[in-house]
Amino acid sequence: MNKNKNYHFETKVVHSGYDAKQHLDSLTTPIYQTSAFMFPSMEKGAKRFAGQEPGYIYSRISNPTVSVLEERIAQLEEGEAALAFGSGMAAVSSALIGITKANDHILCSKGVYGCTFGLLQLLDEKYNIHSTFSNLSSAEEINNSIQENTTCIYVETPINPTMKVVDLELVVSIAKKRGIKVVVDNTFSTPYLQKPLQLGCDLVVHSATKFIGGHGDVVAGLMAGETKLIEYLRKTTQKDIGGVLSPFDAWLLLRGLKTLAVRMDRHCENAKKLATKLKAHPKIKSVYYPGDDDHPDSHIIKKQMKQGGGLLSFEIKGTYEDAVNVVNQLQLIPIAVSLGDAETLIQHPASMTHAVIPVEERLRMGISNELLRLSVGLEAWEDLWEDLNQALDLV
Ligand SMILES: *Cc1c(COP(=O)(O)O)cnc(C)c1O
Repeated sequence: MNKNKNYHFETKVVHSGYDAKQHLDSLTTPIYQTSAFMFPSMEKGAKRFAGQEPGYIYSRISNPTVSVLEERIAQLEEGEAALAFGSGMAAVSSALIGITKANDHILCSKGVYGCTFGLLQLLDEKYNIHSTFSNLSSAEEINNSIQENTTCIYVETPINPTMKVVDLELVVSIAKKRGIKVVVDNTFSTPYLQKPLQLGCDLVVHSATKFIGGHGDVVAGLMAGETKLIEYLRKTTQKDIGGVLSPFDAWLLLRGLKTLAVRMDRHCENAKKLATKLKAHPKIKSVYYPGDDDHPDSHIIKKQMKQGGGLLSFEIKGTYEDAVNVVNQLQLIPIAVSLGDAETLIQHPASMTHAVIPVEERLRMGISNELLRLSVGLEAWEDLWEDLNQALDLV
């Protein structure tokens, strides 16, 4: 590809970051399944260590297959540089540990991934890095939530499973003035639907296990941002904590990424169809989907997301037992807690992903006992709807 040309996203997912000439003209990226690299001489080895000459040393520091993936995700997120990790949590922990120091404060969106919440508690216990949670829904609320020692605002948007959103432009406009770094977990949207770096955020993190891998066969994490911050994290929390990605898993992600744009279009289209059908069903109390025109934050969604994404939640009119019955009656849709796979997956947040949250707090967050979350896959939406409909009929 012509390096000086700005290709469309759909082209970049296939080609960017890869130069076949550097890889014996291999059409697809080879898997460099090696832990170490040889130095042609003592002097050259020393120069590589000193950073005076380019070249690979050891695969925890960098690896050619992983480098292609990092370059590709950097271009897709429109960041300057990127890093790949062995899991989404390795990326999240590398970012938070790298950005903060003891006694800092982290301001966090209300509702984050369960293990991110666990990590924030650990940072508090071990390093007195206190976190507070806010809806971040107005300038006043954000300003009032920022403390003297706030060094990081950590945002998930849309928020799982209530699908509330945070206005990233608003958060950035306040954070920039106060020298606070903004980190966004972009797992739900992927760069196809939302590009936080373009809106001024400092760092994007991903569980690439989800839509980026897209096939439910790899656990991985990614991060993108400006070179200075990424290189700092590469040399510290990535290299020395060591949660790196294997060359084979990087190759699986490169393979998955090639179809990201076409997959996301289908995920979104299917989710929108199911959201519309569910809303019209007499046994459904409420539907939460960012692609819904009636979503309370649709003005923010239109501003920062290309489409509504592949996740939706809905509440059943009835009791916890009714919700259990609906799920158990499904014949096609499996019960599982991941997301972004080809298969549509259903889960019950109150007893699964959000079970650790105290009941009152959980209900305050809008996660009732009758709420179910769907990660809408790539099947024919008519078959998915038929499955949901027959299960709803039986309760
Ligand atoms: C899954 C997930 C994570 C954690 O990623 P792993 O790859 O499982 O470590 C973080 N954030 C969000 C939003 C997720 O869905």
